[in-house]
Amino acid sequence: MRPLGLCFHLLECKPMSFSSLPVSTLGVPRIGPHRELKSALESYWSGASDADALQKTATALRAANWARQYGLGVTVIPSNDFSLYDHVLDTTVMVGAIPEHYGWTGGKVSLDTYFAMARGNASVPALEMTKWFDTNYHFMVPELHRDQQFSLTSSKPLDEYLEARALGLETRPVLLGPVTFLTLSKSRDGNFDPISLIDRLLPVYIEILSQLHDAGAEWVQMDEPCLVLDLDTVTKAALRHAYYTLQQALPSLNIMLTTYFGSIVDMLDTVRTLPVAGLHLDLVRAPEQLDHVLSAMHSHQVLSLGVIDGRNIWRTDLAAKLNQLERVVAKLGKDRVQIATSCSMLHVPVDLQAEADLDSEVRQWLAFSVQKMEELTTLGLALANGRDVVSHALAASSDAASHRRSSRKVHSESVQSRIVSLSPEMAKRQVPFSTRAQEQRAALKLNLFPTTTIGSFPQTDAVRKARADHAKQRISTEEYTAFLRQETEQAIRWQEETGIDVLVHGEFERNDMVQYFGEQLNGYAFTTHGWVQSYGSRYVRPPIIFGDVSRPHAMTVDWACYAQSLTERPVKGMLTGPVTMLQWSFVRDDIPREKVCQQIALALRDEVSDLEAAGIKIIQIDEPAFREGLPLKTSEWQHYLDWAVSCFRLSSSSVRNTTQIHTHMCYSEFNDIMDAIAAMDADVISIETSRSKMELLDVFTDFRYPNEIGPGVYDIHSPRVPSVTEMTDLLQKALRHLSPEQIWVNPDCGLKTRHWKEVRPALVNMVSAAQALRNIFVQPAE
Ligand code: GLN
Ligand code: ZN
Repeated sequence: MRPLGLCFHLLECKPMSFSSLPVSTLGVPRIGPHRELKSALESYWSGASDADALQKTATALRAANWARQYGLGVTVIPSNDFSLYDHVLDTTVMVGAIPEHYGWTGGKVSLDTYFAMARGNASVPALEMTKWFDTNYHFMVPELHRDQQFSLTSSKPLDEYLEARALGLETRPVLLGPVTFLTLSKSRDGNFDPISLIDRLLPVYIEILSQLHDAGAEWVQMDEPCLVLDLDTVTKAALRHAYYTLQQALPSLNIMLTTYFGSIVDMLDTVRTLPVAGLHLDLVRAPEQLDHVLSAMHSHQVLSLGVIDGRNIWRTDLAAKLNQLERVVAKLGKDRVQIATSCSMLHVPVDLQAEADLDSEVRQWLAFSVQKMEELTTLGLALANGRDVVSHALAASSDAASHRRSSRKVHSESVQSRIVSLSPEMAKRQVPFSTRAQEQRAALKLNLFPTTTIGSFPQTDAVRKARADHAKQRISTEEYTAFLRQETEQAIRWQEETGIDVLVHGEFERNDMVQYFGEQLNGYAFTTHGWVQSYGSRYVRPPIIFGDVSRPHAMTVDWACYAQSLTERPVKGMLTGPVTMLQWSFVRDDIPREKVCQQIALALRDEVSDLEAAGIKIIQIDEPAFREGLPLKTSEWQHYLDWAVSCFRLSSSSVRNTTQIHTHMCYSEFNDIMDAIAAMDADVISIETSRSKMELLDVFTDFRYPNEIGPGVYDIHSPRVPSVTEMTDLLQKALRHLSPEQIWVNPDCGLKTRHWKEVRPALVNMVSAAQALRNIFVQPAE
């Protein structure tokens, strides 16, 4: 059956008239150019459409992906890179590792069970979700137990291989490698290492690989990105064992072992012993590994050179890249080299052509997945036939690169001279925290156990509608502003009535905590359709930082002042921190990330000064992405933490002693970066702790956190309203580790995803909990 809406037969697509070196993508975006997968999933979940309709869309998306690659001249096309939700979850299902509570009793795993694992339902929670290496893609964490058994439970890799075959196309199936699968798994019963299950897992891999091989697959792509992590000797041994076992079972199947997101130089002793037919390197992220690997390769092995950035949206200077590639081809010969994206293009948007509104100058510096395939093909043709056959494409690429190097949009003298004149003093408050705390206490006169919230209040339907109406010009800017002022005023009044001590304006004017600032800064661009998958059906449109960042005007002062004008209580100024602004964007690749971060920090520093000058006494600089910036290799952590901390301090240290700086982080595992968090020297930090029942605070048994801290007492991820006793209990726990003067009382995170009907009673209870503690600690005046 040919999918609807796709009237092509692959072999009728324009064939290449020149030969090419093999060019491959390691995977392409699954979501569809118009986010078709999201619509199909949401329609299925809501009951509006059935499984057939969902599968039909999925089939059409796969066919379109294959056709697009084929049509653009990609010669090594992946299959099984598609997923309805997540490829790690697909692997968990494939090997039959479905935790008992999902009620699976063997046989094919139903869509309902699959989505229960992905999203949970009324009776079972979802699997845990975590970041895929250092990307913003999140995968569902496999949960294995000591007696885990595996069995081949899904034929997805084979089905999709045959599906492509039926369309006239030979593909290279992709599997998540067994070692990475186990490395990413968590153990469900105590401390056993999932890697110890390798022997039980391998037969399943052998079974599916045999099926693929029998069906005609000569090569498979085995993704083992765990090779760029710090692996212990047990895991290294498991790697050797796994690939020997696979090779013995299937001596004529060729495995392309793919690594990405870093260098495998530290692992070369192990990698050189693996009996694999090919090896893929991420030469965008770690170009320096090339020579080391070249000298360690066996004479028959194929090298896949990941030279087109699969993670970022920049166009490649192809002529410059060819210099490097021609050297490798000369050394290995044409039949041992493939040209590829550095990793799966899961992480980039589909097609730049869709961005009609993007600044045309910036646009010519970019490449989304379609443009990246064109780049791959150009390189493949040049290497096979010489540069002349693609001279136009090479010239255009060089022009764009040199234009970008010299553009005034990218390079700002004033920003650069500010960076040059930075001094260490600028990243230091004038006096130590202990002195500041006294002055702040005298100036702010806050209660003991002050109550506050993290910034946003519910983004109600009315708020969303007003924003959409304004964007579509259905209401005027005046009407929209009047509406926002009304919402803000109501929020301030309500907080006063509820007895919250430090108020927030509610962030009703913000669409997103990064976009709101990026849109007001120089050096940032935004796409209209540049969606990338964050997890499942949730996609984001990361801003693009293309040039030197500066702040043409104040960004938040008006709203902060308006809110402050309504009340005698302090209202917090609310900013997104430099590290988070960086982490959640596509970042320029022509200067180091830490330099970009410094520029953002300087822009924020100006905003902090303006807020202070306008009379705002407390300023919160959110850094929810601080921890996720940690490099994959622990040896690189300290360098990152040093610059990240110093950027935060650069943004926050211009203020008077009496101006109180807050920060906020919403995750609970920061025990291993406690020193850095203390070094940020925020006067107050609010953190997520309620879900872990304050376990995080155990770290303070050994480490005395010097400043003030608000361990979240209200889990905002749940619609549940916590009782007063629950919250006093949590605060009592916190008091075991912290002194009363240090403790703030606040929720885990912002409240934008909650409803007022939950938020109101929860915060009323929170204020009562703080009051209950005050009653214990504050002696009534005689
Ligand atoms: N101030 C932001 C809010 O309250 C913080 C969001 C976050 O931590 N992710 O929504
Ligand atoms: Zn948060």
